[in-house]
Amino acid sequence: MRARVGADVQILAVTKGFGPDAVESAAAVGLRAIGENYARELLAKAPVASAAGLAVHHIGQLQSNKVRQLAGLVDLWETVDRSRLVAELARRAPGARILVQVDTSGEAGKGGCPPDGVADLVRDAATAGLRVEGLMTVGPTSGGPEAARPGFRAVRRLVDELGLATCSMGMSGDLEIAVAEGSTEVRVGTALFGARPQR
Ligand SMILES: *Cc1c(COP(=O)(O)O)cnc(C)c1O
Repeated sequence: MRARVGADVQILAVTKGFGPDAVESAAAVGLRAIGENYARELLAKAPVASAAGLAVHHIGQLQSNKVRQLAGLVDLWETVDRSRLVAELARRAPGARILVQVDTSGEAGKGGCPPDGVADLVRDAATAGLRVEGLMTVGPTSGGPEAARPGFRAVRRLVDELGLATCSMGMSGDLEIAVAEGSTEVRVGTALFGARPQR
């Protein structure tokens, strides 16, 4: 296994479901970026993040019709998983920094491009002028943290094959396995802020 001691793993503070105070707490402990899933919350917390010097990552499933509203507020789009989104981002946020989301769980409702379509999507996004920095994936909901390992390993392999830099994988429940498998960014909500309030 790749040595991970002292490896550089960023912690993305996932503030979805929490108020603006969570953004401030993240800044206070020295974190550099927040992750948001929903347009309405992102619009509300982006000014707080900006004032605190934190970047904003969009990590929820993305609908093309939301791109226009969010362009200019999002520093990294982590869930680009189809050509339609590439086209919309190229139009509304030219040169945007993106990650391609890979579907490693096959679970409905998570989004992601099938692994065998990733290379083409990465190439198309680059051709469209987007800056493809890496790949992102969400582990399976059931099966415990070990169930995520094969998918994480496959995504890390793709990142290396494609010569990319960022590998966004791991959440509160499976972040140790993600780091062991080569994550460069873990996206952490409940392990930082406690249980999310009901939406
Ligand atoms: C909510 C969410 C997270 C954070 O999940 P926790 O279990 O609270 O750490 C990470 N990534 C994505 C894509 C999410 O939707």
